[in-house]
Amino acid sequence: PEVSPFLEPGPLTKVNSLAILQLSRDNLQPVYLKSPDDEHDGYAEGAVVNTRYGSFPHSTMIGVPWGSQIRASKVDTGSRGRKRKRQLDEDAGRDVASPNENENDNDNGHEVEARDAHGPAVSNAIKKAVADTSGFIHILPPIPEIWTMSLPHRTQVVYTPDYSYILHRLRARPGAVIIEAGAGSGSFTHAAARAVYNGYSTATSPRKGKVISFEYHEQRYHKMSVELSEHGLEEIVHLTHRDVYKDGFLLDGKSPEADAIFLDLPAPWDALHHLSRRRPAHGGDEAPWVSVLNPKRSAYVCTFSPCIEQVTKTVSAMRRLGWVDIEMVEIAHRKLHTARDRVGLNLAIDRGVNNSARDVDEAIARLAEIEDRFREHSRPKGGAGGSAAAGGDVDDMDEDEDDKAAVAAAEAPTNGDASSPASSSIPSWMDGRLVARGEAEIKTHTSYLVFAVLPREWTAEDEAAAAEKYPCSA
Ligand code: SAM
Repeated sequence: PEVSPFLEPGPLTKVNSLAILQLSRDNLQPVYLKSPDDEHDGYAEGAVVNTRYGSFPHSTMIGVPWGSQIRASKVDTGSRGRKRKRQLDEDAGRDVASPNENENDNDNGHEVEARDAHGPAVSNAIKKAVADTSGFIHILPPIPEIWTMSLPHRTQVVYTPDYSYILHRLRARPGAVIIEAGAGSGSFTHAAARAVYNGYSTATSPRKGKVISFEYHEQRYHKMSVELSEHGLEEIVHLTHRDVYKDGFLLDGKSPEADAIFLDLPAPWDALHHLSRRRPAHGGDEAPWVSVLNPKRSAYVCTFSPCIEQVTKTVSAMRRLGWVDIEMVEIAHRKLHTARDRVGLNLAIDRGVNNSARDVDEAIARLAEIEDRFREHSRPKGGAGGSAAAGGDVDDMDEDEDDKAAVAAAEAPTNGDASSPASSSIPSWMDGRLVARGEAEIKTHTSYLVFAVLPREWTAEDEAAAAEKYPCSA
Protein backbone atom coordinates (compact mmCIF):
# COMPACT_ATOMS: atom_id res chain seq x y z
CA PRO A 1 0.00 0.00 0.00
CA GLU A 2 1.00 3.63 -0.52
CA VAL A 3 2.93 4.99 2.45
CA SER A 4 1.13 7.62 4.52
CA PRO A 5 2.23 11.21 3.78
CA PHE A 6 2.58 11.55 7.58
CA LEU A 7 5.37 8.98 7.49
CA GLU A 8 7.01 9.77 4.17
CA PRO A 9 5.65 12.98 2.61
CA GLY A 10 7.97 12.72 -0.44
CA PRO A 11 9.41 15.79 -2.18
CA LEU A 12 6.29 17.00 -4.05
CA THR A 13 2.58 17.52 -3.37
CA LYS A 14 0.34 14.87 -4.91
CA VAL A 15 -3.22 14.65 -6.18
CA ASN A 16 -5.71 13.04 -3.74
CA SER A 17 -3.28 13.64 -0.91
CA LEU A 18 -3.59 15.76 2.22
CA ALA A 19 -1.81 19.12 2.26
CA ILE A 20 -1.83 21.88 4.84
CA LEU A 21 -2.33 25.40 3.51
CA GLN A 22 -0.68 28.04 5.62
CA LEU A 23 -2.71 31.21 5.15
CA SER A 24 -0.87 33.17 7.80
CA ARG A 25 1.44 32.27 10.67
CA ASP A 26 -1.14 30.54 12.84
CA ASN A 27 -3.90 30.03 10.30
CA LEU A 28 -3.62 26.56 8.79
CA GLN A 29 -6.17 24.76 6.67
CA PRO A 30 -6.02 21.03 5.78
CA VAL A 31 -7.08 20.28 2.20
CA TYR A 32 -7.25 17.14 0.03
CA LEU A 33 -5.84 18.13 -3.33
CA LYS A 34 -8.27 17.20 -6.07
CA SER A 35 -7.63 16.65 -9.72
CA PRO A 36 -9.26 19.27 -12.01
CA ASP A 37 -11.34 16.40 -13.39
CA ASP A 38 -13.01 15.67 -10.04
CA GLU A 39 -16.36 17.13 -9.06
CA HIS A 40 -16.05 20.65 -7.70
CA ASP A 41 -17.97 23.88 -7.24
CA GLY A 42 -18.16 24.81 -10.87
CA TYR A 43 -14.94 26.71 -11.38
CA ALA A 44 -13.48 26.12 -14.80
CA GLU A 45 -10.11 25.47 -13.12
CA GLY A 46 -11.42 22.60 -11.02
CA ALA A 47 -11.60 22.71 -7.23
CA VAL A 48 -10.61 26.07 -5.73
CA VAL A 49 -9.76 27.14 -2.19
CA ASN A 50 -11.13 30.62 -1.56
CA THR A 51 -9.44 32.57 1.19
CA ARG A 52 -9.16 36.17 2.28
CA TYR A 53 -5.78 36.14 0.51
CA GLY A 54 -7.23 35.16 -2.84
CA SER A 55 -8.36 32.08 -4.74
CA PHE A 56 -6.15 29.05 -5.13
CA PRO A 57 -7.12 26.40 -7.68
CA HIS A 58 -5.98 22.93 -6.55
CA SER A 59 -4.39 22.52 -9.98
CA THR A 60 -1.81 25.21 -9.07
CA MET A 61 -0.88 23.33 -5.89
CA ILE A 62 -0.32 19.83 -7.30
CA GLY A 63 3.18 18.56 -8.12
CA VAL A 64 5.02 21.43 -6.41
CA PRO A 65 7.76 21.04 -3.77
CA TRP A 66 6.45 21.11 -0.18
CA GLY A 67 6.90 24.54 1.33
CA SER A 68 6.26 26.33 -1.98
CA GLN A 69 4.66 29.71 -2.06
CA ILE A 70 1.47 29.60 -4.13
CA ARG A 71 0.27 32.78 -5.77
CA ALA A 72 -3.44 33.58 -5.91
CA SER A 73 -5.10 33.05 -9.28
CA LYS A 74 -7.84 34.92 -11.00
CA VAL A 75 -10.41 32.18 -11.23
CA ASP A 76 -13.18 31.93 -13.73
CA THR A 77 -16.53 32.00 -12.04
CA GLY A 78 -17.86 33.51 -15.23
CA SER A 79 -19.15 31.90 -18.35
CA ARG A 80 -17.14 28.68 -18.41
CA GLY A 81 -17.29 28.08 -14.68
CA ARG A 82 -20.96 28.91 -14.28
CA LYS A 83 -21.84 26.80 -17.27
CA ARG A 84 -19.98 23.90 -15.76
CA LYS A 85 -21.59 24.43 -12.33
CA ARG A 86 -25.05 24.52 -13.89
CA GLN A 87 -24.21 21.35 -15.78
CA LEU A 88 -23.01 19.65 -12.56
CA ASP A 89 -26.07 20.87 -10.66
CA GLU A 90 -28.39 19.64 -13.39
CA ASP A 91 -26.61 16.30 -13.46
CA ALA A 92 -27.01 16.06 -9.69
CA GLY A 93 -30.70 17.07 -9.91
CA ARG A 94 -30.21 20.18 -7.77
CA ASP A 95 -32.11 23.46 -8.11
CA VAL A 96 -30.18 25.64 -10.50
CA ALA A 97 -29.47 29.21 -9.37
CA SER A 98 -30.07 32.21 -11.61
CA PRO A 99 -27.06 32.87 -13.86
CA ASN A 100 -26.14 36.14 -12.07
CA GLU A 101 -26.42 34.87 -8.56
CA ASN A 102 -22.73 34.21 -8.02
CA GLU A 103 -21.47 37.31 -9.78
CA ASN A 104 -19.82 38.70 -6.66
CA ASP A 105 -18.38 35.40 -5.52
CA ASN A 106 -14.92 36.39 -6.35
CA ASP A 107 -13.20 39.69 -6.35
CA ASN A 108 -10.33 39.36 -8.78
CA GLY A 109 -8.91 36.46 -6.86
CA HIS A 110 -9.12 38.34 -3.56
CA GLU A 111 -12.39 37.21 -2.18
CA VAL A 112 -12.81 38.78 1.23
CA GLU A 113 -15.60 37.60 3.39
CA ALA A 114 -16.52 39.41 6.58
CA ARG A 115 -16.78 36.19 8.50
CA ASP A 116 -14.33 37.20 11.22
CA ALA A 117 -16.92 38.22 13.77
CA HIS A 118 -16.52 41.83 12.62
CA GLY A 119 -19.75 41.79 10.63
CA PRO A 120 -20.39 42.97 7.09
CA ALA A 121 -20.07 46.66 8.04
CA VAL A 122 -16.32 46.40 8.32
CA SER A 123 -15.67 44.19 5.35
CA ASN A 124 -14.14 47.09 3.39
CA ALA A 125 -11.87 47.90 6.28
CA ILE A 126 -10.75 44.28 6.38
CA LYS A 127 -10.20 44.40 2.62
CA LYS A 128 -8.00 47.43 3.05
CA ALA A 129 -6.13 45.95 5.98
CA VAL A 130 -5.32 42.74 4.17
CA ALA A 131 -4.67 44.28 0.79
CA ASP A 132 -0.93 44.48 1.39
CA THR A 133 -0.56 40.88 2.45
CA SER A 134 -3.03 39.18 0.13
CA GLY A 135 -2.08 37.13 -2.85
CA PHE A 136 -0.15 34.10 -1.64
CA ILE A 137 -0.11 31.17 0.75
CA HIS A 138 2.34 28.36 1.48
CA ILE A 139 1.70 24.68 1.04
CA LEU A 140 3.05 22.48 3.84
CA PRO A 141 3.36 18.70 4.22
CA PRO A 142 1.04 16.95 6.69
CA ILE A 143 3.68 16.11 9.28
CA PRO A 144 2.48 15.49 12.87
CA GLU A 145 3.68 18.89 14.14
CA ILE A 146 1.71 20.76 11.49
CA TRP A 147 -1.28 18.44 11.88
CA THR A 148 -1.35 19.24 15.61
CA MET A 149 -1.66 22.93 14.74
CA SER A 150 -4.46 22.42 12.22
CA LEU A 151 -6.45 19.36 13.35
CA PRO A 152 -10.14 19.53 14.21
CA HIS A 153 -10.25 19.59 18.02
CA ARG A 154 -12.60 17.05 19.58
CA THR A 155 -10.85 17.25 22.95
CA GLN A 156 -7.93 18.94 24.62
CA VAL A 157 -4.88 17.79 22.70
CA VAL A 158 -1.25 17.12 23.51
CA TYR A 159 0.95 19.72 21.81
CA THR A 160 4.36 19.29 20.19
CA PRO A 161 6.56 20.50 23.09
CA ASP A 162 4.95 17.92 25.38
CA TYR A 163 4.75 14.99 22.98
CA SER A 164 8.27 15.35 21.63
CA TYR A 165 9.62 15.12 25.19
CA ILE A 166 7.22 12.30 26.11
CA LEU A 167 8.18 10.20 23.07
CA HIS A 168 11.85 10.73 23.85
CA ARG A 169 11.40 9.63 27.50
CA LEU A 170 9.29 6.63 26.40
CA ARG A 171 12.18 5.49 24.17
CA ALA A 172 9.80 5.54 21.19
CA ARG A 173 11.80 4.34 18.22
CA PRO A 174 11.28 2.42 14.97
CA GLY A 175 9.83 -0.99 15.77
CA ALA A 176 8.53 -0.06 19.24
CA VAL A 177 4.97 -0.86 20.35
CA ILE A 178 3.23 1.96 22.22
CA ILE A 179 -0.13 1.80 23.96
CA GLU A 180 -2.09 5.06 24.19
CA ALA A 181 -5.39 5.91 25.88
CA GLY A 182 -7.49 7.88 25.14
CA ALA A 183 -6.99 8.69 21.54
CA GLY A 184 -9.04 11.94 21.75
CA SER A 185 -8.28 14.10 18.71
CA GLY A 186 -5.31 12.00 17.61
CA SER A 187 -2.63 14.63 18.08
CA PHE A 188 -0.34 12.34 20.09
CA THR A 189 -1.31 9.37 17.90
CA HIS A 190 0.13 10.89 14.73
CA ALA A 191 3.44 11.77 16.38
CA ALA A 192 3.69 8.34 17.99
CA ALA A 193 2.93 6.59 14.69
CA ARG A 194 5.80 8.37 12.97
CA ALA A 195 8.17 7.65 15.89
CA VAL A 196 7.60 3.87 15.76
CA TYR A 197 7.31 3.52 11.97
CA ASN A 198 10.04 1.25 10.65
CA GLY A 199 9.07 1.04 7.02
CA TYR A 200 7.54 -2.38 7.63
CA SER A 201 10.88 -3.82 6.67
CA THR A 202 11.57 -7.13 8.31
CA ALA A 203 15.17 -7.07 7.12
CA THR A 204 16.57 -4.91 9.91
CA SER A 205 13.86 -5.29 12.52
CA PRO A 206 11.69 -8.36 12.97
CA ARG A 207 8.99 -6.30 14.66
CA LYS A 208 6.60 -3.78 13.14
CA GLY A 209 6.25 -0.56 15.08
CA LYS A 210 2.66 -0.08 16.28
CA VAL A 211 0.49 2.34 18.21
CA ILE A 212 -2.21 0.45 20.12
CA SER A 213 -4.80 3.13 20.75
CA PHE A 214 -8.01 3.11 22.84
CA GLU A 215 -10.96 5.51 22.98
CA TYR A 216 -14.24 4.93 24.80
CA HIS A 217 -16.23 7.90 23.43
CA GLU A 218 -18.10 6.36 20.48
CA GLN A 219 -18.27 9.40 18.21
CA ARG A 220 -14.62 10.25 18.77
CA TYR A 221 -13.70 6.64 18.08
CA HIS A 222 -15.58 6.71 14.73
CA LYS A 223 -14.16 10.09 13.68
CA MET A 224 -10.67 8.94 14.52
CA SER A 225 -11.13 5.66 12.58
CA VAL A 226 -12.10 7.61 9.45
CA GLU A 227 -9.19 9.99 9.93
CA LEU A 228 -6.66 7.16 10.33
CA SER A 229 -7.88 5.56 7.14
CA GLU A 230 -7.82 8.88 5.23
CA HIS A 231 -4.29 9.47 6.46
CA GLY A 232 -3.11 6.00 5.49
CA LEU A 233 -2.23 5.16 9.10
CA GLU A 234 -4.54 2.23 9.80
CA GLU A 235 -1.68 -0.24 9.19
CA ILE A 236 0.35 1.24 11.99
CA VAL A 237 -2.31 2.48 14.43
CA HIS A 238 -4.66 -0.14 15.86
CA LEU A 239 -7.65 1.74 17.31
CA THR A 240 -10.12 0.03 19.65
CA HIS A 241 -13.38 1.34 21.10
CA ARG A 242 -13.08 0.48 24.79
CA ASP A 243 -13.18 1.67 28.39
CA VAL A 244 -9.66 0.83 29.45
CA TYR A 245 -10.35 1.24 33.19
CA LYS A 246 -12.72 -1.66 32.98
CA ASP A 247 -11.38 -3.80 30.16
CA GLY A 248 -7.64 -3.14 29.99
CA PHE A 249 -5.39 -3.30 26.94
CA LEU A 250 -5.31 -6.88 25.61
CA LEU A 251 -6.25 -7.41 21.94
CA ASP A 252 -8.58 -10.42 21.53
CA GLY A 253 -7.11 -11.76 24.76
CA LYS A 254 -3.57 -11.53 23.34
CA SER A 255 -0.73 -9.36 24.52
CA PRO A 256 0.42 -6.52 22.24
CA GLU A 257 3.79 -6.84 24.06
CA ALA A 258 4.01 -3.10 24.60
CA ASP A 259 7.31 -1.35 25.24
CA ALA A 260 5.72 1.90 26.39
CA ILE A 261 2.38 3.34 27.49
CA PHE A 262 0.99 6.87 27.33
CA LEU A 263 -2.12 7.57 29.42
CA ASP A 264 -4.00 10.81 28.72
CA LEU A 265 -7.02 9.91 30.85
CA PRO A 266 -8.85 11.64 33.71
CA ALA A 267 -7.93 8.84 36.17
CA PRO A 268 -4.76 7.05 35.00
CA TRP A 269 -4.44 5.29 38.37
CA ASP A 270 -7.59 3.32 37.49
CA ALA A 271 -5.88 1.86 34.40
CA LEU A 272 -2.47 1.06 35.89
CA HIS A 273 -3.38 -2.34 37.36
CA HIS A 274 -3.88 -3.58 33.75
CA LEU A 275 -0.21 -2.83 33.09
CA SER A 276 1.43 -5.27 35.51
CA ARG A 277 3.73 -8.13 34.65
CA ARG A 278 1.89 -10.43 37.07
CA ARG A 279 -1.66 -10.62 38.35
CA PRO A 280 -2.03 -7.78 40.87
CA ALA A 281 -3.19 -8.76 44.38
CA HIS A 282 -6.74 -7.51 43.77
CA GLY A 283 -6.90 -8.63 40.14
CA GLY A 284 -9.25 -11.64 40.57
CA ASP A 285 -8.17 -15.15 39.60
CA GLU A 286 -10.82 -16.45 37.18
CA ALA A 287 -8.88 -16.22 33.91
CA PRO A 288 -5.20 -16.91 33.27
CA TRP A 289 -3.21 -13.69 33.59
CA VAL A 290 -1.71 -12.29 30.38
CA SER A 291 0.53 -9.26 30.67
CA VAL A 292 0.22 -6.56 27.97
CA LEU A 293 3.91 -5.68 28.36
CA ASN A 294 6.89 -6.87 26.35
CA PRO A 295 8.51 -9.52 28.59
CA LYS A 296 11.95 -8.86 27.10
CA ARG A 297 12.24 -5.18 27.91
CA SER A 298 11.64 -2.73 30.72
CA ALA A 299 8.34 -0.89 30.20
CA TYR A 300 8.16 2.92 30.18
CA VAL A 301 4.99 4.77 31.13
CA CYS A 302 3.92 8.41 31.00
CA THR A 303 0.70 9.87 32.37
CA PHE A 304 -0.56 13.35 31.44
CA SER A 305 -2.69 15.13 34.05
CA PRO A 306 -3.52 18.80 34.54
CA CYS A 307 -3.95 18.69 38.35
CA ILE A 308 -1.44 17.90 41.07
CA GLU A 309 -4.07 15.82 42.94
CA GLN A 310 -4.19 13.48 39.93
CA VAL A 311 -0.41 13.24 40.03
CA THR A 312 -0.46 12.25 43.71
CA LYS A 313 -2.94 9.45 43.10
CA THR A 314 -1.03 8.23 40.04
CA VAL A 315 2.32 8.18 41.83
CA SER A 316 0.83 6.32 44.76
CA ALA A 317 -0.68 3.64 42.46
CA MET A 318 2.63 3.33 40.59
CA ARG A 319 4.53 2.72 43.83
CA ARG A 320 2.07 0.04 44.94
CA LEU A 321 2.38 -1.71 41.56
CA GLY A 322 6.19 -1.84 41.58
CA TRP A 323 7.02 0.96 39.12
CA VAL A 324 10.37 2.62 39.79
CA ASP A 325 12.25 5.80 38.77
CA ILE A 326 9.01 7.73 39.24
CA GLU A 327 9.45 11.34 38.25
CA MET A 328 7.17 14.27 37.50
CA VAL A 329 8.03 16.86 34.84
CA GLU A 330 6.27 19.96 33.61
CA ILE A 331 7.25 21.31 30.22
CA ALA A 332 7.55 25.08 30.46
CA HIS A 333 7.59 25.91 26.81
CA ARG A 334 8.57 29.40 25.75
CA LYS A 335 8.25 30.75 22.25
CA LEU A 336 11.06 32.82 20.81
CA HIS A 337 10.15 35.25 18.05
CA THR A 338 13.11 35.60 15.74
CA ALA A 339 13.36 37.96 12.82
CA ARG A 340 15.83 39.83 10.67
CA ASP A 341 15.84 43.41 11.89
CA ARG A 342 14.98 44.69 8.41
CA VAL A 343 11.67 42.99 8.79
CA GLY A 344 11.18 44.33 12.30
CA LEU A 345 8.39 46.48 10.96
CA ASN A 346 6.41 43.46 9.88
CA LEU A 347 6.92 41.89 13.28
CA ALA A 348 5.71 45.02 15.00
CA ILE A 349 2.70 45.32 12.72
CA ASP A 350 1.88 41.70 13.33
CA ARG A 351 2.09 42.07 17.09
CA GLY A 352 0.44 45.46 17.16
CA VAL A 353 -2.46 44.36 15.03
CA ASN A 354 -2.92 40.82 16.29
CA ASN A 355 -2.28 41.25 19.96
CA SER A 356 -3.36 44.65 21.07
CA ALA A 357 -6.11 45.90 18.77
CA ARG A 358 -9.68 45.49 19.91
CA ASP A 359 -11.27 45.88 16.49
CA VAL A 360 -10.38 46.49 12.88
CA ASP A 361 -10.50 50.29 13.08
CA GLU A 362 -8.15 50.24 16.01
CA ALA A 363 -5.89 47.78 14.18
CA ILE A 364 -5.66 50.08 11.17
CA ALA A 365 -5.01 53.13 13.34
CA ARG A 366 -2.33 51.17 15.21
CA LEU A 367 -0.76 50.09 11.95
CA ALA A 368 -0.48 53.69 10.75
CA GLU A 369 1.02 54.71 14.09
CA ILE A 370 3.64 51.94 13.93
CA GLU A 371 4.54 52.89 10.36
CA ASP A 372 4.99 56.54 11.40
CA ARG A 373 7.28 55.56 14.26
CA PHE A 374 9.23 53.30 11.95
CA ARG A 375 9.71 56.11 9.42
CA GLU A 376 10.72 58.46 12.20
CA HIS A 377 13.43 56.08 13.42
CA SER A 378 14.60 55.28 9.91
CA ARG A 379 15.34 58.94 9.14
CA PRO A 380 19.10 59.79 8.95
CA LYS A 381 20.34 61.19 12.26
CA GLY A 382 22.71 64.21 12.45
CA GLY A 383 23.98 63.69 8.93
CA ALA A 384 25.68 60.43 9.95
CA GLY A 385 23.51 58.22 7.77
CA GLY A 386 20.32 56.30 8.49
CA SER A 387 21.93 53.20 9.89
CA ALA A 388 24.74 54.70 11.92
CA ALA A 389 23.39 53.97 15.40
CA ALA A 390 24.99 50.91 16.89
CA GLY A 391 23.52 48.43 19.37
CA GLY A 392 19.78 48.59 19.38
CA ASP A 393 19.35 45.25 21.09
CA VAL A 394 15.63 44.58 21.30
CA ASP A 395 15.84 43.96 25.03
CA ASP A 396 17.37 47.39 25.69
CA MET A 397 14.46 49.33 24.29
CA ASP A 398 12.32 51.33 26.63
CA GLU A 399 9.66 51.69 23.95
CA ASP A 400 6.29 50.17 24.39
CA GLU A 401 6.39 46.40 23.83
CA ASP A 402 4.63 46.33 20.45
CA ASP A 403 6.99 48.80 18.84
CA LYS A 404 10.26 47.28 19.98
CA ALA A 405 10.93 45.30 16.85
CA ALA A 406 10.16 48.25 14.60
CA VAL A 407 12.49 50.45 16.60
CA ALA A 408 15.21 47.79 16.52
CA ALA A 409 14.82 47.62 12.77
CA ALA A 410 15.33 51.32 12.48
CA GLU A 411 18.28 51.60 14.83
CA ALA A 412 20.37 48.53 14.14
CA PRO A 413 23.12 48.51 11.54
CA THR A 414 22.00 46.57 8.49
CA ASN A 415 23.79 44.57 5.86
CA GLY A 416 21.25 45.63 3.33
CA ASP A 417 21.98 49.36 3.47
CA ALA A 418 21.87 50.71 -0.07
CA SER A 419 25.29 52.31 0.45
CA SER A 420 26.87 49.01 1.44
CA PRO A 421 28.87 47.38 -1.37
CA ALA A 422 28.03 43.96 0.08
CA SER A 423 24.29 44.46 -0.15
CA SER A 424 23.84 43.04 -3.62
CA SER A 425 25.51 39.72 -2.73
CA ILE A 426 23.34 39.07 0.36
CA PRO A 427 20.17 37.09 -0.26
CA SER A 428 17.14 39.00 0.99
CA TRP A 429 16.34 36.40 3.65
CA MET A 430 19.78 36.95 5.22
CA ASP A 431 19.54 40.71 5.01
CA GLY A 432 19.76 42.37 8.41
CA ARG A 433 20.78 41.37 11.89
CA LEU A 434 19.03 38.42 13.47
CA VAL A 435 17.06 39.46 16.55
CA ALA A 436 15.17 37.22 18.92
CA ARG A 437 12.62 38.03 21.56
CA GLY A 438 11.13 35.65 24.10
CA GLU A 439 7.74 35.84 25.70
CA ALA A 440 8.02 37.80 28.93
CA GLU A 441 6.57 34.95 30.96
CA ILE A 442 5.28 31.46 30.40
CA LYS A 443 1.54 31.73 30.26
CA THR A 444 0.19 28.25 29.85
CA HIS A 445 0.19 25.24 32.05
CA THR A 446 -0.56 22.19 29.95
CA SER A 447 -0.18 19.20 32.23
CA TYR A 448 2.09 17.38 34.63
CA LEU A 449 3.90 14.44 33.11
CA VAL A 450 4.59 11.48 35.38
CA PHE A 451 7.20 9.02 34.11
CA ALA A 452 8.07 5.62 35.53
CA VAL A 453 9.74 2.34 34.59
CA LEU A 454 8.69 -1.24 35.25
CA PRO A 455 11.87 -3.34 34.90
CA ARG A 456 11.75 -6.57 32.94
CA GLU A 457 11.68 -9.74 34.96
CA TRP A 458 14.76 -11.95 34.97
CA THR A 459 14.19 -15.68 35.31
CA ALA A 460 16.56 -18.63 35.79
CA GLU A 461 16.06 -19.41 32.08
CA ASP A 462 17.06 -15.88 31.12
CA GLU A 463 20.20 -16.26 33.22
CA ALA A 464 21.05 -19.62 31.61
CA ALA A 465 20.50 -18.19 28.12
CA ALA A 466 22.68 -15.19 28.92
CA ALA A 467 25.43 -17.44 30.30
CA GLU A 468 25.38 -19.46 27.08
CA LYS A 469 25.44 -16.39 24.88
CA TYR A 470 28.15 -14.59 26.82
CA PRO A 471 30.28 -17.39 28.34
CA CYS A 472 32.66 -16.31 31.07
CA SER A 473 36.20 -16.77 29.71
CA ALA A 474 37.70 -17.45 33.16
N1 SAM B 1 -4.07 12.56 23.72
C1 SAM B 1 -5.17 13.02 22.92
C2 SAM B 1 -4.66 13.94 21.81
O1 SAM B 1 -3.46 14.28 21.82
O2 SAM B 1 -5.43 14.32 20.94
C3 SAM B 1 -6.24 13.70 23.74
C4 SAM B 1 -6.87 12.80 24.75
S1 SAM B 1 -8.29 13.51 25.52
C5 SAM B 1 -7.64 14.67 26.60
C6 SAM B 1 -8.78 12.21 26.61
C7 SAM B 1 -9.57 11.15 25.89
O3 SAM B 1 -9.66 10.01 26.75
C8 SAM B 1 -11.00 11.56 25.58
O4 SAM B 1 -11.23 11.45 24.21
C9 SAM B 1 -11.86 10.57 26.36
O5 SAM B 1 -13.03 10.19 25.66
C10 SAM B 1 -10.91 9.38 26.52
N2 SAM B 1 -11.19 8.54 27.69
C11 SAM B 1 -11.52 8.94 28.94
N3 SAM B 1 -11.68 7.87 29.74
C12 SAM B 1 -11.44 6.76 28.99
C13 SAM B 1 -11.45 5.36 29.26
N4 SAM B 1 -11.76 4.90 30.46
N5 SAM B 1 -11.11 4.51 28.26
C14 SAM B 1 -10.79 4.98 27.03
N6 SAM B 1 -10.78 6.30 26.72
C15 SAM B 1 -11.11 7.19 27.68
